[in-house]
Amino acid sequence: MRWVCDASLHLTDRQVRQQDGGALHGGLPAVSDRAHGPTDLTMGDVALTDDDARFRRDVAAWLADHVVGEYAELKGRGGPGDEDVGFDVRVAWEHELGKAGFIGLGWPVEAGGRGASLDQQIIWAEEYARAEAPARVNHMGENLLAPTLIAYGTPEQQERFLPGILRGDERWCQGYSEPNAGSDLANVATRAHRDGDEWIVNGQKVWTSLAHVSHWCFVVARTDPQSSRHQGLSFLLVPMDQPGVEVRPIVQITGGGEFNEVFFDDARTEASLVVGDVDDGWRIAMGLLGFERGVSTLAQQVGFERELEHLVDLARARGRGDDPAVRARLVDAWIGLRLMKWNAMRSMAAKGVPGPEASISKLFWGSWHRDLGALMIDVLGAHGLIGESLPYELTLEQKLFLFSRSDTIYGGSNEIQRNVLGERVLGLPR
Ligand SMILES: Cc1cc2nc3c(=O)[nH]c(=O)nc-3n(C[C@H](O)[C@H](O)[C@H](O)COP(=O)(O)OP(=O)(O)OC[C@H]3O[C@@H](n4cnc5c(N)ncnc54)[C@H](O)[C@@H]3O)c2cc1C
Repeated sequence: MRWVCDASLHLTDRQVRQQDGGALHGGLPAVSDRAHGPTDLTMGDVALTDDDARFRRDVAAWLADHVVGEYAELKGRGGPGDEDVGFDVRVAWEHELGKAGFIGLGWPVEAGGRGASLDQQIIWAEEYARAEAPARVNHMGENLLAPTLIAYGTPEQQERFLPGILRGDERWCQGYSEPNAGSDLANVATRAHRDGDEWIVNGQKVWTSLAHVSHWCFVVARTDPQSSRHQGLSFLLVPMDQPGVEVRPIVQITGGGEFNEVFFDDARTEASLVVGDVDDGWRIAMGLLGFERGVSTLAQQVGFERELEHLVDLARARGRGDDPAVRARLVDAWIGLRLMKWNAMRSMAAKGVPGPEASISKLFWGSWHRDLGALMIDVLGAHGLIGESLPYELTLEQKLFLFSRSDTIYGGSNEIQRNVLGERVLGLPR
């Protein structure tokens, strides 16, 4: 794939016509007007190599053959605010992906992945969104824990845990936040001590996404009782299915229960299941956050593209497409999405563990998606937040709006991203 940097080429033919005045004043384009060539779903500005074009044809064909039956019934489902929907079917779907080698696409071949190029990962994400395949269930295993193990784990840890993720068998959750340690993560009070060849873990985590359906949790715990703040923490891998772990679901404003409280009461894990050195967990935890904030978001962005397309359709259907204020916000969203993607690609092209610059992506996409949710409701108008009939059920648009309020909080709030950028990237005083 060749990236084309001439700004005029970033526009499809239709957009150029619009720029020329053709459709500019004629309302928003119909979906059928949109260019849908093999390369232009979201990346109208790239030229494919033969290998990439073949890869795109192959994955599109695979998805067309496999997103059928119960999987087709879940088309477009399971996204933000809709996570509980069809979970068992989505787990079965994850196994299908695993069997076909579509999990860990970008991981190195030595780690069991496909070593796919960045371009091919983008193509996969685009085709996946085009096929409206069901939402994935193990983002934290595949995109957060796995790259962390590849960067910092021992060969034994990699051999033990990566295959389960690649097969779609083992799901992971993130045990960072606590009642008194969110933004201030260094205030972690969960503690762990050695007992023979095991760690014993005690404490409470909160807002733990998907803990109720996870097999393992990566837990930041204090292993040096004399330590404070960033020192003396370790990054432990803890099995969820044991008497010492209790998961209590928290009902969210969307009506679903995506996150949980997790209580560790003499929970146990093997002594060898500490990633990095004992008492050096802060470094590992921050490395993982770099993956979370920066480079793991490409597939998510293709989902954003779909949501934006849906929003444009809604605006047309509701007669809002001629409202200059709505049009301006839609155009801003379109521009923002492109900026976000180019920045993600720039970050992904860099090798290794992302640095504090990853906060640029998180700040940008969190705010962008929150604003998209608000625009969705504004386009829907007065009925936006009211159910059509009883029993009251939220529409997907309403769920998206409500869930997107959390985009500027999880993974580190906007204020914290700004602090990171100010202090660690720009070198401003604390
Ligand atoms: C949907 C969702 C899913 C989540 N999933 C997980 C998960 O799977 N695992 C996990 O560990 N956590 C998870 N979290 C928790 C998330 O990481 C925390 O909510 C987040 O870090 C903020 O912490 P807090 O909620 O304790 O808020 P606080 O830290 O109490 O912050 C409250 C407010 O004060 C501001 N603030 C705090 N400190 C500063 C400062 N120094 N400067 C400026 N402003 C500041 C914050 O920006 C925020 O606006 C999830 C959260 C949500 C909403």
